[in-house]
Amino acid sequence: MDFSLSDEHQMILDSADKIATKFNREYMLEHSKEKTFPQEMWDEMGDQGFLGISCPSEYGGAGMGVTALSLLQERLAEHGVAPLYFVVNQGIAIPVIGKHGTEEQKERWLPDMAIGTSRCCFAITEPNAGTNTFKMKSLAKADGDDFILNGSKLFISAVNHVNKMLVVARTESYSDHDTRKKGLTLFVIDVDTPGLTYDQMDTKLAGTAGQFFVYFNNVRIPKENVLGEVGKGLNVLFDSLNPERIIVASGAVGSGRYVIKRAVEYANERIIFDRPISAYQGLQHPLAEAKALLETASLMTRKAAWAQDAGENAGEFANIAKFTAAEANFKAADAAMQVHGGYGFTESMDMLDHFIGARLGKIAPINREMNLNFIGEHILGMPKSY
Ligand SMILES: Cc1cc2nc3c(=O)[nH]c(=O)nc-3n(C[C@H](O)[C@H](O)[C@H](O)COP(=O)(O)OP(=O)(O)OC[C@H]3O[C@@H](n4cnc5c(N)ncnc54)[C@H](O)[C@@H]3O)c2cc1C
Repeated sequence: MDFSLSDEHQMILDSADKIATKFNREYMLEHSKEKTFPQEMWDEMGDQGFLGISCPSEYGGAGMGVTALSLLQERLAEHGVAPLYFVVNQGIAIPVIGKHGTEEQKERWLPDMAIGTSRCCFAITEPNAGTNTFKMKSLAKADGDDFILNGSKLFISAVNHVNKMLVVARTESYSDHDTRKKGLTLFVIDVDTPGLTYDQMDTKLAGTAGQFFVYFNNVRIPKENVLGEVGKGLNVLFDSLNPERIIVASGAVGSGRYVIKRAVEYANERIIFDRPISAYQGLQHPLAEAKALLETASLMTRKAAWAQDAGENAGEFANIAKFTAAEANFKAADAAMQVHGGYGFTESMDMLDHFIGARLGKIAPINREMNLNFIGEHILGMPKSY
């Protein structure tokens, strides 16, 4: 067993430190206020070859896999600057196109994604289906060589900052629970396709990307844009779940470390009752507990990334990693809020946004209950509960 990092992985961490020093938290906050795209940082990451880190080398990427991507995300988050686009573009779109795309599709989509000139969002959530995605209503009907898509999505992140959308729709309507897995199809479409419109939602979260309602009104999609087999999108979808959970866990671990660092700095300086508040055990223990949980989550995240890259079944590790990282990040953010007292609620202290972001981690992209359902059913061997 070897816990050391390779030279290549260490180089990723060092480069992430440099990027995050140049494009720091203040830079991200400026873009977060107006929800503008952090283009300069994106370009710098492209120049360093990081935008195609998970893309096969024959299509212009570094072909490095989920471990590299996870380390990069974890370290950027440790500086408070992890961009969400990474999760979708690198963690979902590139790997699933790489695995399930035809040769023509890979040549058409991957090289631009690998250099960051093309970015993809992911559209699966629907109002009435929620966590039960099988019940989605968006329907793509075959029409000659095309499909015509009608329906709507919501909570779709970053639609206005991307040019592609990976859409999950039904090509056969949902009829009953037993046949629910049939008839889901994935499409890669251009965001400017006629009939596709979107409106910003009123989510109140920090971050450069907002969330959107998306409407499909007779959107014509050529069959060349179907990813994988028609009606068998679930197989493709399943391949995106573990990388997504691993990258999200990495971001949560990094964010947790960031708020703990900030809290310790503040607590060491803040004098109340003639002593720095860091001397009080009541403040030390919650931070120490969060630190212990975060580092445990980090190890599980590494293991999940390793399993994913080794082609092993990473589901068990990825679910535990996502669950523990989200819980640990929330504990860290909660403890950091307590340390900051009333100042935690001021905009200038920039702490409340971390707390809200950490709370989100228990709900999206997968809620904690679904992580626990996975553990109960697939690891502990108990009956499916829903
Ligand atoms: C900031 C943000 C960004 C997002 N970005 C995207 C995106 O880019 N693309 C996209 O497609 N979606 C996106 N989403 C949607 C997100 O994935 C969903 O909100 C999430 O999957 C939960 O769906 P829901 O909100 O409808 O909750 P519901 O399905 O209504 O669930 C509500 C709660 O019920 C509980 N619950 C549900 N099912 C079960 C069960 N079987 N067992 C136990 N408890 C259960 C959970 O606690 C859950 O939190 C985003 C959401 C947010 C808030």
